Amino acid sequence: MAGIYIHVPFCRHKCSYCDFVSFPDKIEYAEAYMACLYKELKMRGEELKDYEFDSVYFGGGTPSYIPPKLILGAMNQIRKCFKLTKDAEITLELNPGTIGEGKVKTYKEAGINRFSIGLQTAIDAQLEDIGRIHNVRDYVYATKLLKGENFSTDVMLGLKNQTKEDVAKTIEVASACGSKHISMYALTVEDGTPIYTDYLNGELPDSDEVAELYEYGRKLLADKGYERYEISNFAKKGYESRHNLTYWRRGEYIGVGVAASSFIKGKRFTNTFDLDEYMKCIISGYYPAVTSEEVSEADAKFEFIMLALRTKYGVSLSEYEKNFASRLEDDFPKALEKSDKYLEREGDIIRIKDEYLYVQNSVLMPFMEEPRDRG
Ligand code: SF4
Repeated sequence: MAGIYIHVPFCRHKCSYCDFVSFPDKIEYAEAYMACLYKELKMRGEELKDYEFDSVYFGGGTPSYIPPKLILGAMNQIRKCFKLTKDAEITLELNPGTIGEGKVKTYKEAGINRFSIGLQTAIDAQLEDIGRIHNVRDYVYATKLLKGENFSTDVMLGLKNQTKEDVAKTIEVASACGSKHISMYALTVEDGTPIYTDYLNGELPDSDEVAELYEYGRKLLADKGYERYEISNFAKKGYESRHNLTYWRRGEYIGVGVAASSFIKGKRFTNTFDLDEYMKCIISGYYPAVTSEEVSEADAKFEFIMLALRTKYGVSLSEYEKNFASRLEDDFPKALEKSDKYLEREGDIIRIKDEYLYVQNSVLMPFMEEPRDRG
């Protein structure tokens, strides 16, 4: 099984921390862009006739910003060009500032059965500070429109003046509104974004403070019945994101649209980040790939371990052996020894102990170094 990712790169306004490929001033291109995207879907579909897909994810950008008929058109095209399982998980990212009754109706018609809502924080002053186009009431309204639907909520940590009480309020609101899944992740500050100035001025919480907020939020989420199944992802039982699990299990996926990445048939590649170039290439019948690489065996092994260790499911030793025809214990003896205190083993599974999941980078370092050690 594989996943399909669709990139919709339009936003009403650029958030101050945003480093994604999203254009705040190009909505008039939406129709022409999506026509190109439908064509790319057709081109990709012709090459992947032997594949079956069990998830679709509309990300961005703000997929809920463009006319909903374009999402419906994309789903019709996907069903025409790809083999999609009957129970496929179909997620759409939704910004609470861009939603209305009519849109929700069309999404349901398109078969969208999961929504991912960017709340970030339930403190209006913080939303304004980071340039979000919505307030908390918009979020509550959006969740009312989605009543009975499966939706996830994004919560951001590390905002200016953010306290534990703010995190508690955010989780409280998301949970009370019926969110089945919560992604709680730390703000990453990229050079060149407006928020970088706040970072340079020392106005943002440091990494220790963010770790404290995370730990506090994690406990609260556990009390409310959200189980952590990946470092930043928490779900009520049965509501884990299938699409994201495909990434963490090093499963295959095809990315369609500007800047979309794919991993399929042993290759990773990414489409151009340039909107005009993307459209020109597709109109002329070419794939607009800018990077393409075969993944070496050493990298594939590390990726397999790194992705699996992000999750509560850990690394399956037998799966590893099945994939690479070698034993993990033989490939990474030093790394296993160095990381011993962070890891636990249960039968076939090695995972990071719950209390160390947040610091997984230090656990992974020895695994990253080991294949290079051996030359
Ligand atoms: S809504 Fe998302 S993609 Fe758009 S500017 Fe904000 S963070 Fe970036």
